[in-house]
Amino acid sequence: MEEFTKISIDLALSTKIKNYDRLVSEGESKMKTCVFYDGGSCIKFRSNSKILAVWKNDTKITPHALFCYLCPFYAFRDDGDRISLTMYDLYLFYMELRARIEREAVKLEERLNDVTFASSVFIRKRYNELLDILNDAEDKIDIIKAILSITKGM
Ligand code: SF4
Repeated sequence: MEEFTKISIDLALSTKIKNYDRLVSEGESKMKTCVFYDGGSCIKFRSNSKILAVWKNDTKITPHALFCYLCPFYAFRDDGDRISLTMYDLYLFYMELRARIEREAVKLEERLNDVTFASSVFIRKRYNELLDILNDAEDKIDIIKAILSITKGM
């Protein structure tokens, strides 16, 4: 059943998401090294979570690797927190992150336009970092939208 669900998800999403195989492969690597992955399921999320999953029962949930690619809870150390999450919560998380980064980037842009700071290597470096985070958040928002479109708002 788990394999069947995975194949169905892959079939539905691989035509909608660019570089799908690479993202799934990155998600698999992330899953394998995450402290919350117990070898079969993710213990971070309560089983009532509505995330992109290949299997779940009353107590456990196994995320699809694409979800691990998107997951902001990846960690090396267990904080002890267990949460319920939906794909819509994740969408809001990245929307808020994007808004916050955009605000910070605009402020830095203003400073870079000011001759006093224009040559600051530190500000330029931070500005470029913010653009990378912004691009990453935008890509993830698009992926979540594609997931929501096939799961009808999990
Ligand atoms: S879903 Fe998130 S917390 Fe769970 S194993 Fe994947 S990366 Fe780790």
